[in-house]
Amino acid sequence: MTINRVRLLSDQPPSSRDRDDSFALGLYRGKVKTQQLFPYPDALDDESKDTVKLMIDPFEKYFREIHDPSQCDLDEKLPDKSLQALKELGGFGIQAPQEYGGMQLKNTQYARLAEIVGSFDLSIAVFMAGHQAIGYKGIVLFGNEQQKQKYLPSLTTGEKIAAFCLTEPSAGSDANSIRSTAVLDEDGKHYILNGNKIWISNGGIADVMTVFAQVPFKKDDSDKQSQAVTAFIVERDFGGVTSGLPEKKMGIRSSNTAAVYFDNVKIPVENVIGKVGEGFKVAMNILNEGRFAMGAAMSGVIRMLVTKTIEHAKNRVQFGQHLIEYQSIQEKIAQMGLTHYAVESVAYAVSNNMDRGIKEFQVEAAISKVLSSESAWNVCDECIQILAGMGFMRENQVERFMRDVRIYRIFEGANDTLRLFIALNGIQYAGKNMKELQKALQQPISNLGTLWNQGVKRSKRLIGIADSQELLEVTAPELSDCAKMITQRVEEFGATIERILLKHGRNIIDQQFILNRIANATIDIYSMAAVLSRASTAISSNLPTADHERVLASTFIDEGCQRVEHNLAEVLRKRNLERFSAYSSITNEISENEGVATTRPLRF
Ligand SMILES: Cc1cc2nc3c(=O)[nH]c(=O)nc-3n(C[C@H](O)[C@H](O)[C@H](O)COP(=O)(O)OP(=O)(O)OC[C@H]3O[C@@H](n4cnc5c(N)ncnc54)[C@H](O)[C@@H]3O)c2cc1C
Repeated sequence: MTINRVRLLSDQPPSSRDRDDSFALGLYRGKVKTQQLFPYPDALDDESKDTVKLMIDPFEKYFREIHDPSQCDLDEKLPDKSLQALKELGGFGIQAPQEYGGMQLKNTQYARLAEIVGSFDLSIAVFMAGHQAIGYKGIVLFGNEQQKQKYLPSLTTGEKIAAFCLTEPSAGSDANSIRSTAVLDEDGKHYILNGNKIWISNGGIADVMTVFAQVPFKKDDSDKQSQAVTAFIVERDFGGVTSGLPEKKMGIRSSNTAAVYFDNVKIPVENVIGKVGEGFKVAMNILNEGRFAMGAAMSGVIRMLVTKTIEHAKNRVQFGQHLIEYQSIQEKIAQMGLTHYAVESVAYAVSNNMDRGIKEFQVEAAISKVLSSESAWNVCDECIQILAGMGFMRENQVERFMRDVRIYRIFEGANDTLRLFIALNGIQYAGKNMKELQKALQQPISNLGTLWNQGVKRSKRLIGIADSQELLEVTAPELSDCAKMITQRVEEFGATIERILLKHGRNIIDQQFILNRIANATIDIYSMAAVLSRASTAISSNLPTADHERVLASTFIDEGCQRVEHNLAEVLRKRNLERFSAYSSITNEISENEGVATTRPLRF
């Protein structure tokens, strides 16, 4: 069943210490875990900051003087001069190790550059990600020394281009169900690859591809033949590799997206990445590792849109006043500022934590991807609303961003499946705690300690005294009310998880109406905590923007707490649960009718 595949995404290598310190996972046990988020993570030393500072000007100059995103959008192609200049900037090997020709930037350094790229052109952002964040990332993360030496130098310099080939006509979100096969040749020296991949970024231009295929194998303890996804390095020059025409797309038009066909391609056995049968793990790790950069790119988009909006609102006069003087416009612009603060705070919290070596960042990275891609879409929409007719015109370029941003909610884990990933990972973590509690209840005398602690926690919850001390200790005094509000929501969240787990047990994996709302509450609480942490640091460091950041944080947290309350109420109240069954029955009617199932007002 598909949902189990979603659950499979959580099968990460164990790192119990990091797991127990994860803020997002802690929520599912009703705990505020401050270790990873407070004070606001800052992993770069001065030298690393200086290095990336030096790169900002050349990157911005590239977009202002060499690469023309609007023309590329019209031409649906990236010209050689753009690619050549990007090579000279080192843009093909940003994070690859220096020994193979890369710049070996840390995640947070890359995030700063991703912001710039995002704010100018998402087509080139997708081209770059298709090449390095996913295309050859498997070789960097899981490749052996021989593979790295053979492939990375020509990829990091841009002499060759890479792509990541996972999706197939019948396997999108359910990536484990791919049908491409790679069968060991009789000589035992090659795999023979057959299959079709679709919608591959750089698929029409890549020389080297990370390709995922099912390899037949027998488990040691079984006679039955089974299949397991395996990752391969495939060169176009192996023969038997062809590509379809570039897809005609809604957005990111100058990035190449194409089908790739493999017809009896002979792959040397030494081109398996990692181990045979571990391809799904390789794919999921590549995707998890790259999500932080999407948050940073989206943050760059939003920052640019805020500037465009404010410029227009300050200059446009209607009914005798500048637009910016109207409250309706002020509310929209304030929302853009709040959204940007949250998206940026979350993106950099995740990248910094990855740079600190924290291994449990998958849920946080998924939160960043969902939050940032949906926020960027909403901000684009509101920007166009304020620019109105002007926003609808190509000349202004916002319409290009609206088209381009849309894909970010779909690829590298569609947001709907990532919501399930977030909630199910958390619930799996909470479930382990529940097992301990249930065990303790069977032998109450020898487990008095556990039961007493749980009992105290529950009584506090029931009478509404959440223990906010932990969060208060790490929060600026000016934001202590916010710390108390968040702690209260965390307690309610933990209690809600307990109740839904007791009610549904393992069947919770099928309760998507509930899981989506739990994921939304997780995204909100994590974002509020990231914002609280960043604003506290701004206050304690006396930043010139500290007061503005304090107002942003308290407003965002006030609104966020209301959303959390709403989402938690949704999953508990009987009336709402009845509404959920109504959703199913309405869909059934529409499905049976193969379209809208009502009688027309005119009855014809
Ligand atoms: C421009 C572009 C570039 C791309 N680049 C690449 C690339 O470089 N390499 C690559 O391998 N792929 C690439 N893709 C493919 C992309 O990753 C997939 O489109 C994506 O994984 C979603 O798959 P799908 O489109 O088949 O949607 P489906 O999986 O069919 O999903 C359809 C909808 O149903 C939802 N859904 C699916 N399963 C569930 C469930 N269990 N419960 C609830 N809802 C569910 C999804 O969230 C989605 O909203 C690209 C796609 C595009 C459009």
